[in-house]
Amino acid sequence: MAKAPIPEARPSRKSRTKILATVGPACQSPAMLRELIHTGVDVFRINTAHGTREEHQATLDAVRAASFDCDRPVGALVDLAGPKIRLGQLVDDPTECPLGAEFRFIRGNTPSKPNEFTCTYESLVTELTVGDRVMLADGTVSLQVVEKDESSASCIVTGAGFVRSRQGVNLPGVALTVPAMTEADISNAIWAAQVGADFISLSFVRSPVEVRQLKELVQSHGSRALIIAKIEKGEALEHLDEIVLAAGGIMVARGDLGVEIDLAETPVVQKRIIEVCQHLAKPVIVATQMLDSMQDSPRPTRAEVSDIANAILDGADACMLSGETAIGMFPRESVDVMHRVMLSTERTLERTESEQVPIAALSGVHPITAATVYGANEIANRVNAKLIVIATKGGGTARIKAKFRSAIPVVGVSDNAATLQRMTLFWGIVPLPGAPVGDGPKLREFIDNWGRTTGVLAKGDRVVYVTGSEVIAHAHNVVVVQEVE
Ligand code: PEP
Repeated sequence: MAKAPIPEARPSRKSRTKILATVGPACQSPAMLRELIHTGVDVFRINTAHGTREEHQATLDAVRAASFDCDRPVGALVDLAGPKIRLGQLVDDPTECPLGAEFRFIRGNTPSKPNEFTCTYESLVTELTVGDRVMLADGTVSLQVVEKDESSASCIVTGAGFVRSRQGVNLPGVALTVPAMTEADISNAIWAAQVGADFISLSFVRSPVEVRQLKELVQSHGSRALIIAKIEKGEALEHLDEIVLAAGGIMVARGDLGVEIDLAETPVVQKRIIEVCQHLAKPVIVATQMLDSMQDSPRPTRAEVSDIANAILDGADACMLSGETAIGMFPRESVDVMHRVMLSTERTLERTESEQVPIAALSGVHPITAATVYGANEIANRVNAKLIVIATKGGGTARIKAKFRSAIPVVGVSDNAATLQRMTLFWGIVPLPGAPVGDGPKLREFIDNWGRTTGVLAKGDRVVYVTGSEVIAHAHNVVVVQEVE
């Protein structure tokens, strides 16, 4: 077993790029959840692909309790597995797939020979055609369909390796008729809506219709959760703008994406997805293998560190840890490394003053809000403000501010707890609970006190306040500049 490193000094402040951590056996104890929040986690992911409803509920309860104990809003993202196809039980487990060997996908779920595969998608044999590629076990084994009859599809191994029962099956470029949500997804989505999840993500999204269906489903159960569309299929890239417009946010799910499309294309596709999210003012998360080697090593590789930095420079709002925090040996160290890389990379952004999306490019956003936030950013720079305060009901103004990056710290205030939790995903916005949002003088007093206590503000410092629509009755957006008394 590798030895844990001596803990590094705690960072003096929080990164503006947000950190998502997947919860699993390695970090689900209350003490470790609190430790990860202190180290930099903003949002915890509950992956419904694993575990039972009782376990998911216990995890959510533990996340809420840790957030309360740390006195910090923390988001909860419930990840729906979507129509992920998996191998059935293998006769030989594991099965070796040597180059050129023949394997047959058969109907049903009882293979009788070592070279027969079954899977969780009943119509697979019907929908495969000769020439299709079938990738197994995260793309480590590749097959090509060479022959098909009523009962089976025969494949030749084109990329050798080993497969195990229940491992994933990906069909790059094959348009399947599988529904966007399984029965388990629907049940999990309703549960997530009822228990107040802040974000609900859907895997293997192919079209904006699927995103809208999930949104309607959760809204019909009283939830305002942001729907996060996971981009991991080639088909999604064909409708990217519409999917981004329909979704509350996007995840670049590089694990499956790197199997569904040519792996070599994933870096450029990641940049394209982030760019679309910048222009449509939607939060975007870069996920998977960001610090993969830290699952069993206390130190990252140079390439992993660069990957995080480049995601931030591309414009990502957040980076996600998966196995690193869920099952790895170094969950705290992984968060610490990610956080330190973020702080270091963000210092370059500060040197370039502000990194802004041109306002003309912002679409899908109310033009008054977009112009006001843009203007407030300009004012803050010109008056050398020490803080920007976004007062918002639903978080929309904060979402747009996240796309106009600047070096000036930003806090988001709201009288709605769900909105504070939602802001945990927005780049650069620190959600600040307890502020008297609807009362200007009281809000100012609250911010002055908070600023002086934390050392963010001193007497005479300028603060730019931006209110979202209807925070002040009958006003769309309002910008006010104050000096700390
Ligand atoms: C991914 O495929 O990159 C991803 C984030 O999804 P999951 O972890 O559910 O496989």
